[in-house]
Amino acid sequence: MTEPSTATIAAATSAAPAATDKAAHEINKLSKRLHRLVGQAVIDFNMIEDGDRVMVCVSGGKDSYAMLDILLGLQKRAPIRFELVAVNLDQKQPGFPEHVLPEYLAKVGVPFHIENQDTYSIVKRVIPEGKTTCGLCSRLRRGILYRVAGELGATKIALGHHRDDIVQTLFMNMFFGSKMKGMPPKLVSDDGKNIVIRPLAYVAETDLERWAEHRQFPIIPCTLCGSQDNLQRVQIKQMLREWDKRHPGRVENVFSAMQNVVPSHLADRNLFPFANLQTTGMADADGDRAFDEDEPCSTTPSAPAATVKLHWIDSP
Ligand code: SF4
Repeated sequence: MTEPSTATIAAATSAAPAATDKAAHEINKLSKRLHRLVGQAVIDFNMIEDGDRVMVCVSGGKDSYAMLDILLGLQKRAPIRFELVAVNLDQKQPGFPEHVLPEYLAKVGVPFHIENQDTYSIVKRVIPEGKTTCGLCSRLRRGILYRVAGELGATKIALGHHRDDIVQTLFMNMFFGSKMKGMPPKLVSDDGKNIVIRPLAYVAETDLERWAEHRQFPIIPCTLCGSQDNLQRVQIKQMLREWDKRHPGRVENVFSAMQNVVPSHLADRNLFPFANLQTTGMADADGDRAFDEDEPCSTTPSAPAATVKLHWIDSP
């Protein structure tokens, strides 16, 4: 057997710390990014104000654990004072490990409340076998959480939806509901009594997955209710993941587009007064510009302008 050389041993022993350093550096970067993005969303949408009591809804999934974790971090360094109270709704799904969340929440030292409501039985009773149960289940959950917020004196309700959820919802509404409508970072609840915030609105799901792994959150599986996955949402999620793999940044661009809406270049007559449009007599460089400003000349057909024009006019 050949003995390893001194150089080989040195390389092997130095490789391990180097890899550890790199991993620590990556996690440090991830932590900074998550805190920066959540802080930015909170500021941009004025999500949390001085004196707020924020009810943080925690389901036991990676996203809500991460939201609570990051908000606790921001609470320590924020220039304003606000309270956090974690709330879990135990919907009595069979096999729900009821000890996991109370143990975790006590360990991190956040005030918390567990609300016990058997929505599982209601949903099972009302929805016929084989039909999707998520619609009724989430409606019931929403109503209960709004009530609990009132009882706890919460001024804001924080939900753990992230950027990819928001973009998915936009596509679901467009594909299946013919509406250009997403999931807002901040809104008034449908009972008109609560302000709902989504502090993870700027955060990518892949970052939350990595953060959850790093922080070793005690994740509770979300398949306990036995509901079939919401097929349409799963399909849209796969489509977006695929897009982002092939064209990195595409989902981010869609989300940016949601923050950069131009009603005059859509077709909603309620958003823009197309019927009463009048000439202004003033040139507007951006007025009729569509998606041509970055188009290099070399990609256009080499036909002379006059020919192009004629062809355009001649087309049926
Ligand atoms: S997956 Fe289960 S618990 Fe979650 S919303 Fe659907 S029915 Fe409710």
